[in-house]
Amino acid sequence: MIVLKSKDELQLMAGAGRLVAETHAVVAAAIKPGVTTASLDALAEEYIRDNGGVPSFKGYHGFPASICSSVNEVVVHGIPGPQVLREGDIIGLDIGAILEGFHGDMARTYPVGEISSEAERLLWVTQKALEQGVAAAIVGNRLSDIGHAVQSFVEAQGLSVVRDFVGHGIGRSMHEPPQIPNFGRPGRGPRLKPGMVLAIEPMVNTGGWEVVVLSDNWTVITADKSLSAHFEDTVAVTEDGPLILTEA
Ligand code: MG
Repeated sequence: MIVLKSKDELQLMAGAGRLVAETHAVVAAAIKPGVTTASLDALAEEYIRDNGGVPSFKGYHGFPASICSSVNEVVVHGIPGPQVLREGDIIGLDIGAILEGFHGDMARTYPVGEISSEAERLLWVTQKALEQGVAAAIVGNRLSDIGHAVQSFVEAQGLSVVRDFVGHGIGRSMHEPPQIPNFGRPGRGPRLKPGMVLAIEPMVNTGGWEVVVLSDNWTVITADKSLSAHFEDTVAVTEDGPLILTEA
């Protein structure tokens, strides 16, 4: 069942979303060649807790860190650790926090120093794909119109959309119904209604869409080792159009 949120609940979710967006800004400012992914994790956890929140991912099904850090061919769910960022890397950061009982969830992929034009283009296409998905999150559309918008845009740019991981409803739980694939035919699934809150999160590869999970059971990489990017926002469906909650 898709849980609809009241106006008051949306206010609280905007607070959680704002905290997550601010955490992104703080961590993004620390990204440079030579820093470890563990140091970014520590920075995020400190900022979230200092502001009254709890990192959503820490301990989730045993996940050992507060954020996911996914470098280069890592698609999602990379575990922060001793890995040192190098000039030319791209790093996806997925950050979630609970504040006053509600979750916010947001991902961005950032350049480390100067990056290749291929990587620049990947980041641009994935950000735009997220924007296309968000623009389809309007009252009266059906759920699959979101994924269709993402896939149509990405494939027209000659890149591919990951199939094995999807977006999700979000609220008092980090993952609520419905699942939101980033691909598929339009006009399917439930009609979008005011009060639905959706984490829309395209994952885009420069090569094929196939992915592999590493032996740590978390880290997802592209099967062909091509570059991958991930952008996510938590979005409320409202009578006035999509409202992005993960904004600073
Ligand atoms: Mg998510």
